Amino acid sequence: MADVLLGQAYYLRFDPKLWEAQRPYAPLGTLYAASYLRERGHAAALFDAMLANSVAEWSEAITRTRPRVTAIYEDSFNYLSKMCLLRMREAALEMIDRSRQAGVPIVVSGSDATDHPEIYLRRGATAVILGEGEITLADLVDRLLTARSIDDVPGIAFLDNTCAVKRTASRPFIKSLDELPFPAWDLVDTARYREIWEEHHGFYSMNLATTRGCPYHCNWCAKPIYGQRYAMRGPKAVADEIAWLRQHFAPDHLWIVDDVFGLKPGWVEEFASMVTAQGTPLPFRCLMRADQVTADVARALAASGCTMLWMGAESGSQKILDAMEKGLRVDDIRAASRLLKSAGIDVGFFLQFGYPGETWDDIEATLQLTRELEPADIGVSVSYPLPGTRFYERVQQELGPKQNWIDSNDLSTMYKATYAPEVYRRVHGLVHHEFRARKSAHALSGLLGNPWRARPRHLRRAASWIYNRAALAMARRRVLNLRGEPS
Ligand code: SF4
Repeated sequence: MADVLLGQAYYLRFDPKLWEAQRPYAPLGTLYAASYLRERGHAAALFDAMLANSVAEWSEAITRTRPRVTAIYEDSFNYLSKMCLLRMREAALEMIDRSRQAGVPIVVSGSDATDHPEIYLRRGATAVILGEGEITLADLVDRLLTARSIDDVPGIAFLDNTCAVKRTASRPFIKSLDELPFPAWDLVDTARYREIWEEHHGFYSMNLATTRGCPYHCNWCAKPIYGQRYAMRGPKAVADEIAWLRQHFAPDHLWIVDDVFGLKPGWVEEFASMVTAQGTPLPFRCLMRADQVTADVARALAASGCTMLWMGAESGSQKILDAMEKGLRVDDIRAASRLLKSAGIDVGFFLQFGYPGETWDDIEATLQLTRELEPADIGVSVSYPLPGTRFYERVQQELGPKQNWIDSNDLSTMYKATYAPEVYRRVHGLVHHEFRARKSAHALSGLLGNPWRARPRHLRRAASWIYNRAALAMARRRVLNLRGEPS
């Protein structure tokens, strides 16, 4: 019997694009909450929606673990949870129903619940945690297990006896992340994760966090949990956790999930010396801003095992970067890409289309930047107004009843963008076809002087090149036809 059954409501099964990619990561934030609950003396069990096929499995987990409290504790390190997708909200509400049917109180924590506590409370949640959750959850569990009132637990919303949503005083953030126990990885079916990764990608990747929050001000970036604050772990603690993960789970690769890795000057260099002192570093990918990347940082990243660094490049148009208050120059993206490549690190770009004021020339500037810098991978999205951002305030009057995406491939512009939503969906396809055609052409270019070195993988590349070139031409024609004049 568990004191608390923790689950999250991001079901990979319900997100077709990510389901197809088959790159599941365990819910790290939920695992932190579980390990903190244990430290406070509570027995914790885990329901892992990442590996589940339906909400019915939540009911099965309740029956199996017979918890006294249940909690939907979204993994705030997973950007997909931060997207507040409607399909996942629906799943969370269904999980609330099932906990109530089982007669167990349910607490909810996460970005969408922090933005809209009333939706979850009116469906039957006992309390919604506002902001960072571990300590608040443990305080709530203490109260619920001893049948005491929760009304004065800081950092929550609940329904008072008039059914009005009441918020308690906010709770200070955890300053010293190094004092938190390591995530409760023993609750995870790591064998299943390994099996999926090895089957689809030939290696096993695990996730790790070194920071929480971000101090920058990109005006579309929603930060319901941390706001502008950030906290960092010490490089030694992170190196120790990597050594611990290697010893217990032997991953081949790590995904460092931070919004921004190595936020403090000198951190990456210190981290590099810590991990190299422990032996051959484990390859990892992470996310940083272009303006953090100096020659020294690039060298230290390479030494510490970074094989791929993602940047929020967003746009190749300075006008759009300025409108987003990104605080970056397009030349920063150029300089960072070159430094990273010369250090042997692949670069990934997150690109965004449809920001208000973006013209066709701005879109072309973004396409041109990716042609020029040739990132090893791209992630393409459409601007998405989430509550609490200046972007949301700016377009709020234009939003209809649909204010969230259904899943991560929805790509609706829910405000009045320069072009109709269908144009941005086509641009999304166009960018991908162009990118894949270029990658295939590169992979084949080495064969030009040595055709006898062709292998089956080159045939696959050739087929991919032909397909993507044809699809690109079609996508470009469709976009140009659809685009017409700005709407
Ligand atoms: S740097 Fe990244 S995490 Fe920080 S505000 Fe900008 S987009 Fe958000």
